[in-house]
Amino acid sequence: MKLLRSELKSEFNKKLFDMSARELPDRGTIFHDDQITCELSAKIVQFGFQLSGVIKTITNYQCVRCLCYNSKELALPIKLWLSSKEILTGDDYQDMVHFPKNIDHINMNDTISDIIYLAEPMNPNCNDNCKGLCPNCGINLNQSSCDCKLDSHDSPWDVLNNF
Ligand SMILES: [Zn+2]
Ligand SMILES: [Zn+2]
Repeated sequence: MKLLRSELKSEFNKKLFDMSARELPDRGTIFHDDQITCELSAKIVQFGFQLSGVIKTITNYQCVRCLCYNSKELALPIKLWLSSKEILTGDDYQDMVHFPKNIDHINMNDTISDIIYLAEPMNPNCNDNCKGLCPNCGINLNQSSCDCKLDSHDSPWDVLNNF
């Protein structure tokens, strides 16, 4: 997604930008469909522009227990400054994006794809009560049950108990 300097200069409020996930650099995110909607506001500030709003999309996550895919609706806040000044490094400046005065547009794809990627849960579950897969036959225990008798001696805790 490109934002034109002329567009930013005239400011906007809660403007909708539709884009396709295929435009984004690949961060390993699985999109439910390719639809991404950004609702953005732009304001002129002393050293450039302030950009804020939400990024809305639906991504798919694989449950770490049962390996099924689940879709999740995301509405992620975005707030950053497009600064004409050279960016200083450090935590205070992490929301700053360098936008030199002689450039007529800025490409937001890296920033958007980072925000979506960082929203991904570390160990996603389809739900807290997910029973996972049977370690013996591999059946999805949320959908059906099996007759496997799991030998309790397989548990590493039993080995420890023998000591
Ligand atoms: Zn699951
Ligand atoms: Zn089983």
